[in-house]
Amino acid sequence: MQPDAPQRPLPVTNEDTHAFWTGGERGELMIYRCENCRTYVHPPAPFCPECESRKVGPEPVSGKATVATFTVNHRQWLPGLPVPYVVALVELDEDPTVRLPTNIVGIDPEKVTIGMPVEVTFEQVEDLFLPMFQPRKD
Ligand code: ZN
Repeated sequence: MQPDAPQRPLPVTNEDTHAFWTGGERGELMIYRCENCRTYVHPPAPFCPECESRKVGPEPVSGKATVATFTVNHRQWLPGLPVPYVVALVELDEDPTVRLPTNIVGIDPEKVTIGMPVEVTFEQVEDLFLPMFQPRKD
């Protein structure tokens, strides 16, 4: 890593969250899903909150989502992380109740809107692939 590269706080991974933070290596956004009742389980947990099945595991989703809410951060919290940047919650197309906290990239922060269709892109930091979202190209 370059010494002056943006220093994002890195997530701590465990058995359940590992797939979410590393699926980007294959270009896949991995979301936990219950094999029994097909509910998406996010944040990842070792059992399904709907039916309590322990048959849960990561499955790739389309990576398409919609901006549910966002704020533009103008404050430089971290040396090297350029401001302004957009902190958002996005709803997955597969299930809008699954909301991911993320950053919106690839667009002027002032142009981000609620309801904007976005798609996943990944930023590699060390051995993790952080899911970010950018405006859809299609
Ligand atoms: Zn279930």
